[in-house]
Amino acid sequence: MEEDISILLAKLSFSEEEKKRVVSKKANKDNSKGYEHWAIGKLMTQEKVNKEAMYRVFKSLWYTKEEVNFVALKDGGILVKFCNEDDRKKILNLSPWLFDQCLFNMVPYSKDKTMEEYDFNHTPFWVRIANIPMEYMDRDMAMEVGSAIGEVLAIDWRDRDGGWTEYMRIRINIDINKPLQRVVYFTNHGGEEFVCSIRYEKLPRFCYICGLIGHTTQKCKAQKNSNENQDNIFQYGKWLRVPIRVIDQNNGLLRNGIEMIKKDKENDSELHRNLWKVIGTNTQYDHEETEQVKDTDDESELSTP
Ligand SMILES: [Zn+2]
Repeated sequence: MEEDISILLAKLSFSEEEKKRVVSKKANKDNSKGYEHWAIGKLMTQEKVNKEAMYRVFKSLWYTKEEVNFVALKDGGILVKFCNEDDRKKILNLSPWLFDQCLFNMVPYSKDKTMEEYDFNHTPFWVRIANIPMEYMDRDMAMEVGSAIGEVLAIDWRDRDGGWTEYMRIRINIDINKPLQRVVYFTNHGGEEFVCSIRYEKLPRFCYICGLIGHTTQKCKAQKNSNENQDNIFQYGKWLRVPIRVIDQNNGLLRNGIEMIKKDKENDSELHRNLWKVIGTNTQYDHEETEQVKDTDDESELSTP
């Protein structure tokens, strides 16, 4: 429609009255600026989400330096108008963001991109990989095993010497169009095989039948087509989710050194490290976790297949 009018206008001639120029009085303020701090988000779910409520919750959780505003776009996207780069960086670094257990996937806004051109297929998650013999838990192992799951973005060392005991904690960019990966097979030099289990922090609602994020078990299309034995129908479960606030090898959530593997403008190592230190120790983190990852409806998902 807009294009049709542009073509039409190009052919018309206008009166002197119409040709009067409107000149901006705010000569110093370029209205087109500001978009470089914006992000574009998308709700990765088939569920109906109360967007207004989501905006309110995120605004209260994010503690941004300056105001943040949300604008729903007609093609399913949500424009997130941050006012400065630090705010955007902080919030993107703390991805994934969940509302009502639905994933709100955000990427930096690009001036000339259409909605289809943004990559909403990947989201960074902190994953914990367990059942690796302690003597193999080192940086090489983290990179190898992490790469078997997705793109390794960061490694969280318990201390500078890599003092892992129960699991390795790695930030991985995960393809959310694929079923959640549950294990990594690892064979040591002696040919001995281990099945390493994967658990995800801040995991949104996902399907216990097909392992995909974005729909519930009840709404799974695979379920309808499946003639399998009902005993084996649940190949996935809430065991893939890291429970909230479990005191374990970390003795709380304080982290000593996050090593950034992939550096880009959204992935500032110093900021990230400091941020994780801060949120590991204050109540804001607790609030955010409880708000975002409620485990309560998992049982109902299981009980009504
Ligand atoms: Zn499914």
